Amino acid sequence: MAISFDLTPNSLRAREHYHEMAVAHMRPISRKYDDQEHEMPTEWVDYFWKSGRGGPTGVDLSGPGDGFVQVCVQAEELCWGDAGLYLRMPTAALGGSAVAAAGTPEQKERFLTPFRGDGQPVWGAMAITEAEAGSDSAAVQTTADRDGDDYVLNGTKIFCTSGEAASQHEGGFVVVWATVDKEAGRAGIKAFVVPANTAGMRLLGVEKKLGIRASDTATLVFENCRVPASNLLGRAEVKKKSSKGAGDKGFKGAMATFDASRPIVAAMAVGVGRASLDFVKEELARHGIHPRYDAPAHEITAVERDVMEMEAELQAARLLTWRAASMMTHGRPNSLEASMAKAKAGLAVTRITQKAVELLGPAGYSKKLLVEKWMRDAKINDIYEGTQQINQLIVARRILDYPSSMLR
Ligand SMILES: Cc1cc2nc3c(=O)[nH]c(=O)nc-3n(C[C@H](O)[C@H](O)[C@H](O)COP(=O)(O)OP(=O)(O)OC[C@H]3O[C@@H](n4cnc5c(N)ncnc54)[C@H](O)[C@@H]3O)c2cc1C
Repeated sequence: MAISFDLTPNSLRAREHYHEMAVAHMRPISRKYDDQEHEMPTEWVDYFWKSGRGGPTGVDLSGPGDGFVQVCVQAEELCWGDAGLYLRMPTAALGGSAVAAAGTPEQKERFLTPFRGDGQPVWGAMAITEAEAGSDSAAVQTTADRDGDDYVLNGTKIFCTSGEAASQHEGGFVVVWATVDKEAGRAGIKAFVVPANTAGMRLLGVEKKLGIRASDTATLVFENCRVPASNLLGRAEVKKKSSKGAGDKGFKGAMATFDASRPIVAAMAVGVGRASLDFVKEELARHGIHPRYDAPAHEITAVERDVMEMEAELQAARLLTWRAASMMTHGRPNSLEASMAKAKAGLAVTRITQKAVELLGPAGYSKKLLVEKWMRDAKINDIYEGTQQINQLIVARRILDYPSSMLR
């Protein structure tokens, strides 16, 4: 495969389109929904839903694009606008990725159709994390017991992005990871689609957070929550570990969702980092300071060096992200590259946004600007979809070809 770092004309048009959306529809309400945490950003949700969910709003985006890279381009541009609002978009989100990755054609039809959008906005969510199962998702304690034609779910899920919207708005759904057989370890963990308003699924509350405050992050309780067996994603049977790792297959399939989601989170991080860097460069330019990229190292100022380092970090993160995304488009295994991109971008965005606050002095710390908000919005990219440490661990395992039992 030839290496190209250029986006197709179609992706370039898409980028411009999303940038305009970010400028016109996200930035103006960015502070409002940071302050009014948990309030539904109706103007953004309605705009996004009615405009064809980020698709063509007067712009022809048909024609060859860059596949999954284009999804990352969208994430970068819209998170340049506002990462919290991006997460609040009415989409199937991670829940949709799970259905798309592991669902049958019938399940895709059943659960993803509402997102094509005739009625009211619809959200999807993915609930893996529990009090005792975060980084170690194989430790999930929520149970799913077979009862006739149903499964009955019991347990509590925490930190579920869009959990409130997905569980309360008709047409939405939450993909819940639960074990059908605790003895079987990973092999017993399966994913179940729980449609919004299913009896036994209860919203316990929403988190007050450091950043991405426009995004709803919910605790969901499942008490004898009954779903049809046809809502199980993937195979129902539990293969025990006898035949050489076969028992892990279902779990690994579920984990494959991360190969798609990690490049997107990395792109989101790049978007937030770029928002800060763009702003710093504009402010410096206003004061007549333009980084001299061709000046010898001993002549450049400390500020110029800082800006160049921020730019290098950002570019490196973006290129790793596009590589991981491009591999996905071409059907190549990308777990290593997805984790690399996520680890790099998570770290880059926290450094870049902190440096931006630092360089701008008191103005950077003030709520008059969005710079302090971007610093708060940055950190989550280093936490969800695998923390910095966990993604580094995955990279190490892949490079050394060690199983998780040997490097944990
Ligand atoms: C805003 C927000 C939104 C979220 N959205 C979702 C969602 O939609 N769905 C969902 O299921 N979850 C979601 N999460 C949960 C998120 O994925 C977890 O917080 C994350 O996986 C870390 O798990 P934990 O919080 O239990 O931390 P822990 O696993 O307890 O880790 C604590 C610390 O120890 C480190 N650590 C753990 N194990 C190791 C190791 N082996 N080696 C080195 N260091 C290690 C971690 O890196 C971390 O720094 C969300 C979290 C937040 C904050």
